Amino acid sequence: MNFPSEILEIERVLFNEFGDLKWWPAKTPEEVLIGAILTQNTSWSNVEKAIHNLASENLLDLRSLSNASRETISLLIKPSGFYNQKTERLIGVSKTITSEFGSLENLSKQGIQFCIDYLSPMKGIGRETMDSILLYAMNFPRFVIDKYTTRFMTRYGLLKNPREIGKLERITDILNHDIWRLKNFHAMIVELSKNFCKSKPVCEKCILNKSCNYYKDKSVP
Ligand code: SF4
Repeated sequence: MNFPSEILEIERVLFNEFGDLKWWPAKTPEEVLIGAILTQNTSWSNVEKAIHNLASENLLDLRSLSNASRETISLLIKPSGFYNQKTERLIGVSKTITSEFGSLENLSKQGIQFCIDYLSPMKGIGRETMDSILLYAMNFPRFVIDKYTTRFMTRYGLLKNPREIGKLERITDILNHDIWRLKNFHAMIVELSKNFCKSKPVCEKCILNKSCNYYKDKSVP
């Protein structure tokens, strides 16, 4: 498989099916960061409830969160699950960023490499969360590599195994560092993974089955 041309073909097929998904749904970059932490190990519908609760108490920004009590935050974000752990993460990240930079916007001004080095050692900021913050909150050209993407790309045949994920970093170049395309491509892969390429894939109905190795291998009599 030619990696760049396959990626562009996947983008074309997915866009025909899903169009502009307008992801990430948030009013501010700091809300995106908060959502990226809340969405760990849970569904987006649960995150929405937690976001709604935080908004009702005016706690959807890092400075307000860093001044709020643990008890208040954990109660409000309870619908997102793992709420004690997520409360610690939200407070830790909020306090660190606001005390050192004042806001996420000021941190963004330091540039992408600085932000990667700054965010990656933080507790609760794994690869997927960091990628989401860099792309969706800070508008840096950075393809989001998550479990959905790795699973789909491996089944499709573009990765020999999930350990090859570094190859997916090339997608940022292939999509010309275009922020909108990077955002929508990742959102479309998530949509594909929820509708077709689930843990138990629904290959017969999948829009990519004609070119997917997993399906072709299964179809061989
Ligand atoms: S054909 Fe099956 S394995 Fe391949 S992308 Fe679609 S759902 Fe996933």
